[in-house]
Amino acid sequence: MSDARTPEAFDAAIIGGGAAGVLAAIGLLRQASAPLRIVLIEPGAEPGQGIAYATRDPQHLLNVPAGKMSAFADAPDDFVDFLVQAGAFSPLGRESIAPRYVPRRLYADYLHERLGAARGRSPARLQLLRDRVVALDKAGAAVVLTLQHGGRLHARQVVLAVGNAPRPLPARGAATLEARHRIDAWDSQALAAIPAEATVCIAGSGLSMADVAVSLHARGHRGPIHVVSRHALLPLAHAEAAPAAFEPQPLLAMTLRQRMHALRAHAAQAQRDGLPWQGVMERIRPLGQALWRSLSDADQRRFLRHVVRYWDVHRHRIAAPVHECLQLLQQRGQLHVHRARLQAVSAAGDGVRLGLHGACGPLRIDAHCVINATGVEMRAQAMRNPLLQQLLGSGAAVAGPHGIGLDTTDDGSLVDAGGNADPRIRVIGSLRIGRLWESLAIPELRVQARDAAAAALPALQGQDPGEGIGNS
Ligand SMILES: Cc1cc2nc3c(=O)[nH]c(=O)nc-3n(C[C@H](O)[C@H](O)[C@H](O)COP(=O)(O)OP(=O)(O)OC[C@H]3O[C@@H](n4cnc5c(N)ncnc54)[C@H](O)[C@@H]3O)c2cc1C
Repeated sequence: MSDARTPEAFDAAIIGGGAAGVLAAIGLLRQASAPLRIVLIEPGAEPGQGIAYATRDPQHLLNVPAGKMSAFADAPDDFVDFLVQAGAFSPLGRESIAPRYVPRRLYADYLHERLGAARGRSPARLQLLRDRVVALDKAGAAVVLTLQHGGRLHARQVVLAVGNAPRPLPARGAATLEARHRIDAWDSQALAAIPAEATVCIAGSGLSMADVAVSLHARGHRGPIHVVSRHALLPLAHAEAAPAAFEPQPLLAMTLRQRMHALRAHAAQAQRDGLPWQGVMERIRPLGQALWRSLSDADQRRFLRHVVRYWDVHRHRIAAPVHECLQLLQQRGQLHVHRARLQAVSAAGDGVRLGLHGACGPLRIDAHCVINATGVEMRAQAMRNPLLQQLLGSGAAVAGPHGIGLDTTDDGSLVDAGGNADPRIRVIGSLRIGRLWESLAIPELRVQARDAAAAALPALQGQDPGEGIGNS
């Protein structure tokens, strides 16, 4: 496609082909009643994977039970149905599969299958485009998408589903290290090349650290594994827990301090009743967005400054086998957790020297490599995504509350620097974090994707995608 040609016109364009983008595509295909033209633009090879589901490592498990991972809010058993039909856990029945934390790769297979089925049954046509959008501009009734590989597209409606981005390694000298000494937690090939006796250092102690540790363990890694984290909080384990029996609505009227006090009291009560504290978190899980939105601005700030790291380890828990593996590695003295700040890294011999600053002063670790598991960036400006830079730079978008994500209306329409919402551009997924907080996991994404499709279609059905598009 070249600039000299008339840009190709689509009814709807979905930018980003991770889980959220694929759910939006399925939503449009399923709800369309006319032969619309839809394009899904994703630079990666396979849509529906993103960072979370691209892994083929069977040790990397979903952190949500299969029974809660349906792609469709109105068909809650759909993922379990897929697993049963695929014979993934034969001869186990659906009741045994629903509470399991299954390998994440099965979720990628599921989305792939459901996307194919939706394409086969829809009057709409979906084109997959392997490219990256670098700019969005408005031209009359259309939105113009500029592609990294050259060329432009027009679309009447746009779904922005670009997810977030891994944080760079937060240490001086990181850019000077050779690639084999500075490994990304999601780079399975580089992880597989680490010698079994090597000393490794993982920066970060969250879910990605857990992924790395279980992968190393499964491959028979024998060398020391150092985990460096400022707060040294490891993810806690899931437990088989029904939602605790308390009424969560009163929490919404409380201040942050009162809520924390109330939740601790509910957890203590659960323990007195011989029930796991996890049931308290299960109880409030459906209220995740309401809990955030009902906090005052000042309390949201306090949460981000003081509470979030404790919240995260309780809210984003790991499957029991993953937790057991971490405990085993710690008990046998192979995995060491350092409460310290990673300050600098430098090449040293055939490895890397890490300079840390901990509670007891400076500390030095010599390792074969440092693995970046510091998690994802929440500030759109810092995500190093050219499209987000362009949107923010041109004023077509502004950062969301507290500088995280992008600002959107309640229905996800993108808000510009002048405070105006554009209903043609709907944001789904983690970029809505500032407004919603809970906007990352499948239970939220499937609702946002369905609603974005439903909102886009009335403007599209029965219209020619070229209609109303001016020269640009
Ligand atoms: C390791 C891990 C495990 C997880 N496990 C679970 C789980 O068990 N259950 C659960 O509910 N959630 C889980 N999550 C949350 C998970 O992030 C979401 O479920 C989901 O994968 C998010 O999908 P997304 O499409 O919003 O973002 P992403 O997966 O980040 O996908 C965004 C896509 O957009 C593309 N993109 C970016 N910029 C552009 C551009 N300019 N143009 C075109 N394309 C672009 C990227 O290439 C990427 O493929 C997990 C997350 C991680 C990281």
